[in-house]
Amino acid sequence: MSEEEIDDKEIEDFLKFLKVANETIKEKGKMYEFECPLCGDKAEGIKNTYNGHLFAKCKNCNMQIME
Ligand SMILES: [Zn+2]
Repeated sequence: MSEEEIDDKEIEDFLKFLKVANETIKEKGKMYEFECPLCGDKAEGIKNTYNGHLFAKCKNCNMQIME
């Protein structure tokens, strides 16, 4: 496998995670739990009350997003 393919996979995983987080976390300032699309474990996320920025994390596979 070339390095480029690994990067593509990482971006794909990231986007998958972001999509589920975005669909789950609707209300600002509230902590949401959702099933991680990458490992199936429990992930959690929250949307900032002030600026609406999204933060989500899966402790199991260490996927983390910050918008
Ligand atoms: Zn995970």
